[in-house]
Amino acid sequence: MLTLRGGGPEALSRAFPPEILARLIRHLEAAWPHEGCGVILQGRAGEGEPWRVLPLPNASPTPRVAYAFAPEVWLQVCKEADARQETVVCVFHSHVDTAAVFSAEDRRQAAPEGIPLLPQMSYMVVAIHDGRATSASSSEWQQGDFQTVPIPVPDFRFENPL
Ligand SMILES: [Zn+2]
Repeated sequence: MLTLRGGGPEALSRAFPPEILARLIRHLEAAWPHEGCGVILQGRAGEGEPWRVLPLPNASPTPRVAYAFAPEVWLQVCKEADARQETVVCVFHSHVDTAAVFSAEDRRQAAPEGIPLLPQMSYMVVAIHDGRATSASSSEWQQGDFQTVPIPVPDFRFENPL
């Protein structure tokens, strides 16, 4: 059994360091005008860098409006995480030129028929407009539904926003 532990109810307030967010946002911006996707893994406490951002190919046949992990890629991620004693704590993807809401399709994918596949997982959505991240949200399964909170997009470019 592959372990996909998460942080429990307190994890909704889990704040990834800005450099971790910047890393995944760079990937999502580069993927525009397609949706980008990937995972964040958490290593064992006290061993090296606690977080690892792993961009994954978007296997969706309609990548402008959806994302998907190829099953063999996902299996590889889980095996590697197990071998490195890491935990997949976050699945992230981008929305192309639309809001960073956890959409009905995102919900259906994460909880088919209202049953969460990975109840400890946090799902991050980043809105990418014209190749630039504009907003982000994080959703977790709590008390029978997904709860979504906005998360700040780090200003890591040292440029003036439009
Ligand atoms: Zn989505």
